[in-house]
Amino acid sequence: MLQISQRINSLAASATLAMSQRSNELRAAGVDVINLSVGEPDFNTPDFIKEAAKKAIDDNFSFYSPVPGYMSLRKAIAANLKATEGVDFSPEQIVVSGGAKQALCNVILSTINPGDEVVIPTPAWVSYVEMVKLAEGVTVEVPATIEQDFKITPRQLRDAITPRTKMVLFCSPSNPTGSVYSREELQQLVEVLKDYPNILVLSDEIYRHINFTGSYTSMATFPELEGHVVVINGVSKAYAMTGWRIGFCAAPLPIAKACTKLQGQYTSGASSIAQKAAEAAYTGPQDCVEEMRQAFERRRDLVVELAKAIPGIRVNKPQGAFYLFPDVSSFIGKRCGDRVISSSGDVAMYLLDTAHVATVDGAAFCLPGYIRLSYATSDELIREAMRRIGDALAKLV
Ligand code: PMP
Ligand code: GLU
Repeated sequence: MLQISQRINSLAASATLAMSQRSNELRAAGVDVINLSVGEPDFNTPDFIKEAAKKAIDDNFSFYSPVPGYMSLRKAIAANLKATEGVDFSPEQIVVSGGAKQALCNVILSTINPGDEVVIPTPAWVSYVEMVKLAEGVTVEVPATIEQDFKITPRQLRDAITPRTKMVLFCSPSNPTGSVYSREELQQLVEVLKDYPNILVLSDEIYRHINFTGSYTSMATFPELEGHVVVINGVSKAYAMTGWRIGFCAAPLPIAKACTKLQGQYTSGASSIAQKAAEAAYTGPQDCVEEMRQAFERRRDLVVELAKAIPGIRVNKPQGAFYLFPDVSSFIGKRCGDRVISSSGDVAMYLLDTAHVATVDGAAFCLPGYIRLSYATSDELIREAMRRIGDALAKLV
């Protein structure tokens, strides 16, 4: 009899991808579903990036690339990090992977031993806990409530650290809350972290460019943490390139080398064509990034306004990314006919079945009682989705 390993059996499937798949199936079956589940920009990849990919095909970039990526791309990434964040990483410290997802997993598998603790402020993106599980590490959740704008305090961070803490995993702007730590807030966390030189800070900055605060501070800019920060980023969100699968880590050299060794054994270098497209993204005109950011900010204003008008829902005002994470706990215990709502997962399924709007249960992000909406879609669909959600929730008594 075929058996699946315990390692994989113990993993949860990605809830974001599962919900998106479910909504695509319903749509294929003729149901008019609005998909606010998966987090990906609805824009097409900018033309100059697509042209670079076509040229790469014609120029025969069809051979294996170096495992950590083409040197020209790693140089472009290093220059981009310097220009946007003011941080110094050499091209040798950059490892290009099949999306930021693989970059994160590479770093976790390269640094976490069984039993090592990884501190994760929650709510947090679905894959972090599962990646730590893959490495046989132990997740230590640090819960941040909506009252604290889903951001942890220095006190909470200090309390979570033990002699076994190996890594702290940050994500700002955050998926699923859209919260952004200010420079002052990060500085306060750094004051705690600087007392623990053995802790690696893994900073997921994939939403760095989708930020409505007017300023951004990378974790790698703090001199107190020099040599202890790994930056994760990629082209998926900033350049509307989710399907191209290019992300990277910028890491202390020994970690970059370890990631290269790991990647060399299980995927090799990322797609050659996609790497050339990413190189164009980083070296070409950057107006597209700002144009998309502005569209997301306008949609943020719209979705927050519409959500606030729905009785029973409580929201923060996200300052980045393209997610809203409403508290829907007031609907738990209510019913519509025979259908009883006993969790936020039930709220998400109820909205899918009756309003035909796909969202994701907050439990997948370590905070039950909430749901996540991705507003990376048109104004019309945002209006229609929020109207449907409001109507469906009003039927719960
Ligand atoms: N980090 C966060 C917080 C995300 O939301 C995602 C989802 N796209 C990723 C990393 C991975 O992005 P990708 O693999 O598409 O580069
Ligand atoms: N990161 C996006 C999300 O949270 C894409 C799906 C995924 O990779 O989980 O929806």
